[in-house]
Amino acid sequence: MPHAIVIASNNAGKLREITRLLSPLGFSVTPQSQYNVTETEEPHPTFIENCIAKARHAASLTGLPAIADDSGICVSALGGAPGVHSARYAGEPRSDQRNNAKLISALSGIAQREAYYYCVMVYLRHADDPQPLIAEGSWHGEIIDDARGTDGFGYDPHFFIRELDKTAAELTAAEKDALSHRGQALAHLVEQLGRIR
Ligand code: IMP
Repeated sequence: MPHAIVIASNNAGKLREITRLLSPLGFSVTPQSQYNVTETEEPHPTFIENCIAKARHAASLTGLPAIADDSGICVSALGGAPGVHSARYAGEPRSDQRNNAKLISALSGIAQREAYYYCVMVYLRHADDPQPLIAEGSWHGEIIDDARGTDGFGYDPHFFIRELDKTAAELTAAEKDALSHRGQALAHLVEQLGRIR
């Protein structure tokens, strides 16, 4: 019998990536939407707290082990903003276009463009699991004013990786997975899950 896990996300891209890595380990991965679990609040000041809140919500409503991720972009010259507020930086409704416009405007006249993406993922065996598995990843780059590339999502067209002379939106999905904050976190989580199988 495959070991069932609910994913506390409705993002098709994330789900595809997670399924691809976990299926060979004998895990059967299902999005929370299939159990009618809707998104929960993310009120906390840290990624890890929001991540655990999402996983706990899904585990508690389904009775299944749950995986959640929380991520964002942290810009040094902005004191780490937008950080945990990345998805809704320019307010509701969520809009990548308005978020990017706000970011570029906030950096106007600032030469220091260092930024990194951060992702944390957790696995809860059940809603009250006192020892969640936790994995993180970060990806460093810089913010450029002019958008480049059409792949990826969110801040990717402005997230420039100097060594590659490309933005994240100019990478293929496989190239991004191999480097990205989410790819790293998922690989570390899979490592830990492999040990508990
Ligand atoms: P969440 O983890 O789904 O809450 O996403 C947080 C937000 O951070 C996203 O809505 C994006 O704005 C931003 N973000 C996180 N990861 C990425 C990425 O890989 N590319 C572009 N934007 C990202």
